[in-house]
Amino acid sequence: MALSVTDVVAPDTGQVVGQVPLLAEDQVPDVVGTADRAFRSWSATSLERRCQVLLDLATALAERAPALAEEYSRQHGKPVAEAKIEIDRAVDTVCWTAQAVGATTRPRTLPNRPGLAGRELRVEPAGPVLAIVPWNFAAVILARKVAPALAMGCPIIVKGPEETPCVAQAFQAAADEVGCPPGTLQTVFAEPAVVRQLVRSPRVRQISFTGSTRVGRIIAALAAENLTPCVLELGGHAPVIVTAGADLDLAAKTLVPAKFAATGQSCGSPSRFLLDRRIHDEFVDRFCHGLDGHSMGPLNSARRRDHVHRLVLDALRRGAVLRRGGTLPDTPGFHYPATVLTDVPRDAAILAEEPFGPVAPMLVYEDDDAAVAIANDCDLALSAYVFGEPGHATELAAQIDAGSVTVNAVPTAFPDAPLGGRRASGYGYEGGDEGLLAFGRLKILQTGGNLR
Ligand code: NAD
Repeated sequence: MALSVTDVVAPDTGQVVGQVPLLAEDQVPDVVGTADRAFRSWSATSLERRCQVLLDLATALAERAPALAEEYSRQHGKPVAEAKIEIDRAVDTVCWTAQAVGATTRPRTLPNRPGLAGRELRVEPAGPVLAIVPWNFAAVILARKVAPALAMGCPIIVKGPEETPCVAQAFQAAADEVGCPPGTLQTVFAEPAVVRQLVRSPRVRQISFTGSTRVGRIIAALAAENLTPCVLELGGHAPVIVTAGADLDLAAKTLVPAKFAATGQSCGSPSRFLLDRRIHDEFVDRFCHGLDGHSMGPLNSARRRDHVHRLVLDALRRGAVLRRGGTLPDTPGFHYPATVLTDVPRDAAILAEEPFGPVAPMLVYEDDDAAVAIANDCDLALSAYVFGEPGHATELAAQIDAGSVTVNAVPTAFPDAPLGGRRASGYGYEGGDEGLLAFGRLKILQTGGNLR
């Protein structure tokens, strides 16, 4: 039984639209103990049965998707259509995982060695998992944690986002409905102090955290107390290099919706625009023109909006030029206009801190070496983009230090591709075989007996 609640606020109006129960500190041992007990039976459940539960879960989620998209949009601020696309991607992720897990976890025979009859490499479930899910992609990131954990035989405790709780709640309801055994998936919401207690619990065997770099460092330090492995998917500040050979029409038409999707609140959002001097003016014109008639939702909270505005004001104070937006609207809720800054000086805070909002800071580069140097001159190294003649752009992409680099496109994260950051963007992978294996442990089983 939860002891307290927190308000859920609609970003469009700033009004309270609901409440979510919070886990109390003294409930943590119960939650972790339940996951630990569920581990024994769930890890012994056949792979076929676990995959069937996942496929049933996907069907139950797909049925809920239209109504859920409406509620998710209300709590998040993103348009209903965007919310629906994300939920559909979450459903796809669950299905892909059920189809992939068999091949990923198949035991592998290793070449024999003298004195042994056989050697086999097995993948076993890691144990109870704690997943901390952010509000900004509350559906797809939840699916990228829940589906592989369950597929691998691990019960999972989801610490859902208090800002957008409806998605984690819908997953829980769907899992209960399709016969996911009690304790296998537990959804909780909690204050930071209780989150830290969950992280420190020795019976949690794997942590999967997606959130800011600031909180990621706290989680990693606490997890180290029990040497609990973590996957940390942290902040990003993606550079986008637009070279002189780029198709500027394609670049602008791709980058406007990519930049302002989810009102810029995406870890992979293009957020540092590095423009070859020769195409600078034309690209800026096309990009700003692409904003005419473009609509987007509010930011998720006053805290987020104020952070974005602070970064914009800092850049302007240091000499950046305001091409679009940049003013706080006098309307209810947490809206902020699509903002374009050019001539952003290298010491502006917005080039070091993740803006996580609808701002496109742009600056000029003189040659390839300078473009790569600026792209890599940021601790956050999650994703990056290059627009240009394909051969040249691919050469630049190879020199960028980031977990994913895309040439002439800004795709979504596909279920079969491992996504992970470098340096301050975290470590470990989510998605693909690597994302499944994060919830497994390897065992080498060696058998003696051929000593003759
Ligand atoms: P956040 O780090 O502020 O919060 C994440 C969660 O951490 C919260 O739900 C909260 O429960 C918990 N938390 C907050 N403070 C804590 C503390 N002091 N101790 C323990 N737990 C604490 O992140 P957010 O604002 O919810 O999400 C946005 C961030 O997530 C951005 O930086 C974004 O780039 C990142 N993100 C990364 C990816 C990725 O795949 N790398 C994906 C989505 C979002």
